[in-house]
Amino acid sequence: MGNKMHLIINSLDIVGVIILFVSLLPIRKLISELPPGSLKKWWKILVGMVVFFIGSYLYITIQFRFESTLYGQEVMCMLLFFGSLFVYLVSTLALKTTLDIKRIYTLEIENITDPLMDISNRRHLEQKLHQEFSKSVRYNLPFSILMLDIDHFKNVNDTYGHDVGDIVLRNLGALIKNFIRESDSVARYGGEEIVILLPLTDGQHAASMAERLRYEIEQYVMVPSDSEKGITEIRITASIGVAEYASGLLNVDELVKRADKAMYRAKREGRNRIFLSDGTTSD
Ligand code: GH3
Ligand code: MG
Ligand code: MG
Repeated sequence: MGNKMHLIINSLDIVGVIILFVSLLPIRKLISELPPGSLKKWWKILVGMVVFFIGSYLYITIQFRFESTLYGQEVMCMLLFFGSLFVYLVSTLALKTTLDIKRIYTLEIENITDPLMDISNRRHLEQKLHQEFSKSVRYNLPFSILMLDIDHFKNVNDTYGHDVGDIVLRNLGALIKNFIRESDSVARYGGEEIVILLPLTDGQHAASMAERLRYEIEQYVMVPSDSEKGITEIRITASIGVAEYASGLLNVDELVKRADKAMYRAKREGRNRIFLSDGTTSD
């Protein structure tokens, strides 16, 4: 081996120390991306290990400079170099994987969320409805849905403009998300029509929940008064149709149709009320 080659190999340990330092960057970024929890703790432990390696590498590197007779110095230098390269590759790949997973997760959420109301969109609603419906059929479990439509919402748009109407929709979405239980779900069915799924809930309980929700909406100030924008406090009311799963019901569309009919019945009877479908066509 030529002198030049010796020199290069004997410097690999120093390159290794530098690579170890650089490896800390993707790991630190990765830690900042992770939510609090045990995974974060483990990555912090790994940082501690890398720092320990850096210390050890530095110690050995300095030893090599003073004890040139140390046995197998070249092999050691190469080992240190490849060891640091290994740490660098693991840390960059881990960061890339974490960022990819995060991106996919964000896309998945966007794919099933209505951007204006920040609740599930119709596509996600259809999936959930089928899941809950087949669960109820298989295990004969109660299951109800609410169909909610804002009363005279066109007036809000006509009086204050579409943008203010959008604010009302966003605030209504937040109100309902806050109101329902963790096992329930809410989705935008159409323009200002919202469907709420209530698993393990029979019609009577669903109706009393709908009545409490109706009251909450009636009480809530959707947009506070703003003299600059010429807005006087905006409140809304809603009509809610309630339908429960009953054995013998053929499919999920029938359930939605019943809730829809019940909602229109509530409208016909004067709005700002709920109506529980009894499954007959007179709804
Ligand atoms: P009612 O339901 O009590 O019969 O009267 P309504 O005035 O609410 O009538 P309807 O439900 O048929 O009207 C829906 C209105 O909702 C009309 C449309 O302009 C408005 N709307 C639908 N989607 C949006 C939206 O994304 N943003 C805003 N600002 N308005 C919307
Ligand atoms: Mg309406
Ligand atoms: Mg409507």
